[in-house]
Amino acid sequence: MASEETFMRAPAPTPKRTIYTEAMEIFNYAADLIGLDKRVRLELEEPDYEHIFYVTAKLKDRLVPLSAEAAKSFADLSVTQVRNPEGLERLANGNLILNGRALLGSDVAIRHGHLRLPDGLVYQLVPGESQRFKAYRVQHNQARGPYKGGLRYHREVSLDLFKALAAEMTWKTAIAEVPFGGGKGGIQLDPREYGREELEAITLRFMYRLKSLIGPNIDIPAPDVGTNPEIMALLYRQFSDGERERHNLRGIVTGKDVRIGGSEGRGKATGQGVAFCIEDYYADRGESVKGKTFVLQGFGNVGSHAANILANMGARLLAVNDADGSIFNGDGIDVNALSAYVADPKNLKRSVVGFPGAQRIEKKDLWDVQADILVPAALGGEITADVAERLKVKLIAEGANGPTTPEADRVLQKRGIELIPDIIANAGGVTVSYYEWIQNKRMERWSEAEVDQRLERAMKRNYRIIRDISRNQPRKTEMHDSRPYCIGKPVDSRCAAMILALKRIEAHYLLEGFSQ
Ligand code: NAD
Repeated sequence: MASEETFMRAPAPTPKRTIYTEAMEIFNYAADLIGLDKRVRLELEEPDYEHIFYVTAKLKDRLVPLSAEAAKSFADLSVTQVRNPEGLERLANGNLILNGRALLGSDVAIRHGHLRLPDGLVYQLVPGESQRFKAYRVQHNQARGPYKGGLRYHREVSLDLFKALAAEMTWKTAIAEVPFGGGKGGIQLDPREYGREELEAITLRFMYRLKSLIGPNIDIPAPDVGTNPEIMALLYRQFSDGERERHNLRGIVTGKDVRIGGSEGRGKATGQGVAFCIEDYYADRGESVKGKTFVLQGFGNVGSHAANILANMGARLLAVNDADGSIFNGDGIDVNALSAYVADPKNLKRSVVGFPGAQRIEKKDLWDVQADILVPAALGGEITADVAERLKVKLIAEGANGPTTPEADRVLQKRGIELIPDIIANAGGVTVSYYEWIQNKRMERWSEAEVDQRLERAMKRNYRIIRDISRNQPRKTEMHDSRPYCIGKPVDSRCAAMILALKRIEAHYLLEGFSQ
């Protein structure tokens, strides 16, 4: 038996703090607690592969509106009639993409590359040029199955961020008990600045480059921030076009439209999973969601579905915020009406801002709203220590990935605010992605009721195991068995979730062994 001293590690040089090192803090903590096998730990500490590549595309001509001040120099410029309005595509940033011959005829009045449209604004004509975009795919770990994880189109992405998000997928797929590993990737761009055809060209080129790295049994992307079922359809087409057994490749992406092999219930699955966890949290305390109030950050795929489902369960949405602003109504926001407002094609930014059934508030005031629940469903790192000090909620259910910083975690613990951590709370998406993948493999189609039923069982079973680990309450019930995972003392819920993930992943390594 080695002496205690043998196990003392020399103090490591302080590593540079990055999104990845921050995200791995909980991994290291849980790995220490359970004495994770040393070699397994080394395997998990860094991703298997980190791919960075570039995608080029030819952009279209666009019209960029001038400021009122700059437009004064063109006061006498006559109005150009738009003969083919279909060809003008307005973007969320106010620019217009010229598709085809949008401005026909000889009455196009252009002066120094500027023209005035019937809306009265003066626009600068910017010729479409070729542009290069930085793209990523991080394949973190495949001990339990093919790499799995979303594709993000966003201006603020980096290798560091995708490493953190890919690792999160490794933990999440283990917690959800789906036979996948973890991956993540995407492109550094703001999709709201590009036209439909431009995004198509960029996406097709992205898959052209990605194709040799992925496959339905190797690495399976899905939607994330800035991507959706339409993007998944393009990726599927580009991957499978011209292949003899094209139908066998349908599982190359999940989150597809149900008409082309997507699963019923996938669109709402992440929000649904968040709601199932919240429902089970209250059921465990002998309470119900009915009558509870909640605050939401992000009204995209995850946020809007979570809000709709929680509202249907009888909860009241008090405040919501997105990239463009925040709104509040102390009597409750009508979630159906808000969804319709956001989906209206006239709402170019697809934003909650301007919704008539609520008043506008500052983003910082969102954190001061008194409510039972907070559902962050936007980007990572939003709940900082400062925000955590201000919050007036009792429970946080993390719809977003990595919304809470480690410092904020400590504040939440100190303040006794309860947490349903991201790797269980938002695991509904990848769980139904797995159902979609099985349906594709088997050429089956499951009903929404069947998907929901399976999802509910999976979410609640694994959430209960995490709660038991957290309370150190090993037990076996009809629904779940937490005995193999409890560690003999209570731990916080984020650590409990990580323990479940690590014990399941470690079992694969230890039972299968290592190839040399
Ligand atoms: P989405 O693009 O559909 O929506 C993102 C929302 O966040 C939008 O409402 C946007 O306006 C808002 N937002 C962006 N920047 C913001 C900011 N700075 N402040 C406030 N709001 C901001 O994306 P999504 O698919 O709903 O993903 C949201 C989160 O959930 C992400 O963290 C994602 O990784 C995570 N997630 C998504 C899925 C899924 O199935 N889509 C699954 C698991 C986790």
